[in-house]
Amino acid sequence: MKLNVEIDNNSGFCNGVVRAITTAEDWLSNNDSLYSLGSIVHNSVELERLKSKGLIILNDISDVFDTTVLIRAHGEPPQTYAIANKNNLKLIDCTCPVVLKLQEKVKQTWMNIRKDGGQIVIFGKRGHAEVNGLVGQTDGEAIVIENISEISKIDNTRPVALFSQTTKDPIEYKEIAKKISENIPNTQVFNTICGQVSGRHNKLKEFAKSHDIILFVSGKESSNGKILFELCKSVNPRSYWIEDRKHIDKEWFYEGDNVGICGATSTPLWQLEDIFVYLQDVK
Ligand code: SF4
Repeated sequence: MKLNVEIDNNSGFCNGVVRAITTAEDWLSNNDSLYSLGSIVHNSVELERLKSKGLIILNDISDVFDTTVLIRAHGEPPQTYAIANKNNLKLIDCTCPVVLKLQEKVKQTWMNIRKDGGQIVIFGKRGHAEVNGLVGQTDGEAIVIENISEISKIDNTRPVALFSQTTKDPIEYKEIAKKISENIPNTQVFNTICGQVSGRHNKLKEFAKSHDIILFVSGKESSNGKILFELCKSVNPRSYWIEDRKHIDKEWFYEGDNVGICGATSTPLWQLEDIFVYLQDVK
């Protein structure tokens, strides 16, 4: 079968993930193993590659002592640093600089707003490492909302400062900010969606529209992947979410289809290229 296949040149890892993975690989080229607190990337195929080089994923930092632990791009709450200190751990801190700046802003705003009985609201995925890191800046007091229906959790009689997890959908954030501002005038809205993510939305939409069929590649646990896949699906109903080439069904394709391959901020370029090569031979 003849297919015309193109890889989206705006897809691939974001800077924060590249930095964390490169740092881990550099370390592993001189050492047998390295602990990472949580999955360094939400992509099982890439994770297996790094595990084969010696990366060990830790679920709880309290379990290790006197060793080296990598902090991934999502960042961590202050409690993690306190435990690391107590357990005599050396940290390789790969918190993305954009996330670090956001943590500092949340902390500073919390210090100011709490005096007036204010609330910090975070639009993000509950339990996500980045969101936990942000909530940790507010002594655990921030209110996390996952969608517009959850704004009922906010007390309309008190001031609000609103932030977003860096990988959320910019349009949804705008709608949430508008609704909260209608309920609570003078709400402070901080534009904290990562530029690499918001820039990708429009370009990806165009890419998905301009192909007959889209293969969107990412781990199913990636929250950025879920958002970007839904964006593709909204403009191209023949969009398929796959984790690797094993999930491709040849029945999806017609002779001469223009196939677009794209992915999330946690999808490595080599994985998109692997699928590109596979599609050259589809019978
Ligand atoms: S999406 Fe942006 S903020 Fe988040 S890790 Fe990647 S570069 Fe950093």
